[in-house]
Amino acid sequence: MTSDLARPSLPLRAELVGLEPYGAPQLDVPHLLNVNENPYAPSVDVVADIAHDVAEAAAGLNRYPDRDFRALRADLAGYLAVESGVELAEDQIWAANGSNEIMLHLLQAFGGPGRTALSFAPTYSMYPEYARDTSTRWVVGRRAEDFTIDPQAAAALIAAEAPSVVLLASPNNPTGTALPARTLEVILDAAADVPGGCVVVVDEAYGEFRREGVRSALHLLADRPHLVVSRTMSKAFGLAGARVGYLAAAPALVDALRVVRLPYHLSAVTQAVARAALRHAPALMAQIGSLRAERDALVEWLRDRGLRVAESDANFVLFGVFDDRHAIWQGLLDRGVLIRETGPEGWLRVSIGTPEDMTAFKDALVEVAGL
Ligand SMILES: *Cc1c(COP(=O)(O)O)cnc(C)c1O
Repeated sequence: MTSDLARPSLPLRAELVGLEPYGAPQLDVPHLLNVNENPYAPSVDVVADIAHDVAEAAAGLNRYPDRDFRALRADLAGYLAVESGVELAEDQIWAANGSNEIMLHLLQAFGGPGRTALSFAPTYSMYPEYARDTSTRWVVGRRAEDFTIDPQAAAALIAAEAPSVVLLASPNNPTGTALPARTLEVILDAAADVPGGCVVVVDEAYGEFRREGVRSALHLLADRPHLVVSRTMSKAFGLAGARVGYLAAAPALVDALRVVRLPYHLSAVTQAVARAALRHAPALMAQIGSLRAERDALVEWLRDRGLRVAESDANFVLFGVFDDRHAIWQGLLDRGVLIRETGPEGWLRVSIGTPEDMTAFKDALVEVAGL
């Protein structure tokens, strides 16, 4: 049988024709500083605990898992209480396979045809894809020169576009910019005035790396039924491979997500891995401190060499500005250092790695950029 490649017969949605799947290059080089992972692998203690609990879960794999993963939600609430000082009930927590799936659940429940999702660029490049995949109209405002969001302009855009979902990464990816509480309050007020309602999602994927004095949006949850704070175990927790993201919101909002999730979306193995890792939160929190210090030192080092560096509350740094950023990116890669070519023209993003990774990065950059 021959197929006629010139005449495709798959009924692919028109908006997907010709598109490539999302993803940063996965290359095998010594210094992986391109997707903001935690450079430290789980310790032997964590690995042993995970292995033990997964074995226990394996013995029950003939049964479907707890579809409401109550124990995990209670553990996550306990973790957030320690991490941010905000007490939450188990029914205010939701979890999924990475915060990417969390966002999809939110768009499935609150977006859709005839509705609008809104964000402020430059920001996480997956947001427009969640909108596209749920047939939600996508509107994007601009961040200021220093990558902050002007509160009044944001409120005006929300009033004009009447979105049902606003997505705000804080700290923002790829810029590292945290959202000041005052800006968020103005946006929440504007969203509360949208006819039909508007959910504001603060994506705190990098929340644990915020600097002293920067508060988590979790503090605003008590008075804001339309606020969602999303978190992940992929970054600070060093568990990107396990695929666990979660959110905190009002119980009614969480209930809406239970309607759109696939049955048993969080496997018994995933639940066991997450719960075992959460028992080691105190040790992980200590490690976050050293990554933060490494970040602040890198910001200073780059500035001392005359480069522009965005303020960062995350575990990565956006720096520039280069006439030919691709040449810099390639030069680093040739020296075994993989960073990310992302953000506004001329800028590059580097994740914070181990001290050895940072030395390799700095040495390579000095050579390639002639600093
Ligand atoms: C890395 C990242 C996430 C995390 O995605 P997971 O699916 O939880 O691994 C979410 N939001 C932003 C802005 C990110 O950079």
